[in-house]
Amino acid sequence: MPIDPDSLPSGAARVAGVMGWPVHHSRSPRLHGYWLRELRIDGVYIPLPVHPDRLGPALRALVDLGFAGCNLTIPHKEAAVSYMDELSDTADRLGAVNTVIVRDSRLYGDNSDGFGFTAHLEATAPAWPADRPAVVLGAGGAARAICIALIDRGVPAVRIANRTFEKAEVLRHAFGERIQPVPWNTRDQVLADAGLLVNSTSLGMTGQNPLEINLKRFPADGVVYDIVYAPLQTDLLKQAAAHGCRTVDGLGMLLHQARPPFAAWFGVEPTVTDALRAAIVQDLAG
Ligand code: NAP
Repeated sequence: MPIDPDSLPSGAARVAGVMGWPVHHSRSPRLHGYWLRELRIDGVYIPLPVHPDRLGPALRALVDLGFAGCNLTIPHKEAAVSYMDELSDTADRLGAVNTVIVRDSRLYGDNSDGFGFTAHLEATAPAWPADRPAVVLGAGGAARAICIALIDRGVPAVRIANRTFEKAEVLRHAFGERIQPVPWNTRDQVLADAGLLVNSTSLGMTGQNPLEINLKRFPADGVVYDIVYAPLQTDLLKQAAAHGCRTVDGLGMLLHQARPPFAAWFGVEPTVTDALRAAIVQDLAG
């Protein structure tokens, strides 16, 4: 088979990757690999299976091995904070790092999950009603990033309904008065005057329990965002569309959160296109 040398990394290629344990499920190599090829960049992005016991040495090795940086996925996002030489304001507030950038032999930790959430929301449902309260289901790692993103966007209140109420209270203590914990069993009622509903629980995901919620009270000009992306069209999004709401699926958040790290490592701003989306949808189905 003839090989196009321009499609292969050279000895000067920039190198990045994703650290996780396990890491084989990660779509990030496909995603970044797509952009590297599309933009004809001399770079590689590889999976880095790193056991939690080896996280510190593995992160420090990025400097010695000349890496541009890496993404972090489960279970490393929180543990990595203590190994960074410097943190972005967002990573500091979140207490979690999903992006490491090697700068002047130092590790800079950032977090682009909230950026991905907002960028996809603005792109899919422009002029969404940000002047009304938002309702967020869940209080896990993803919900933390979403809460910060919504507060920074100026949403007047973020009502958090979580099965474990105390975890929603932790978010209020961390992020302030605009975070309003509400009991899980009031999730239908608190929708009444909201502008945005976000599912950030794992409910509705393939293999998980269904998400039980009734959107009857939710204003039809509101937006429903499900960050679960397997399946792409969740039962929540189907119910929202039938109710007349604009809907936002979880795949775009995954794609958009990859933009800032790619730009930092490889020096080019990538774009989330329909073709990229189709490629990742095909990969998820395979
Ligand atoms: P996490 O930290 O483990 O949090 C899971 C959340 O789901 C918690 O709020 C948990 O409630 C809730 N939950 C789990 N089982 C439940 C049940 N049976 N009934 C009610 N609530 C339940 O996970 P995460 O990292 O935040 O991720 C959450 C989901 O978002 C996952 O499906 C993940 O794949 C997806 N995600 C998508 C993106 C994206 O880019 N689209 C990014 C990150 C995450 P308790 O606190 O009561 O346990």
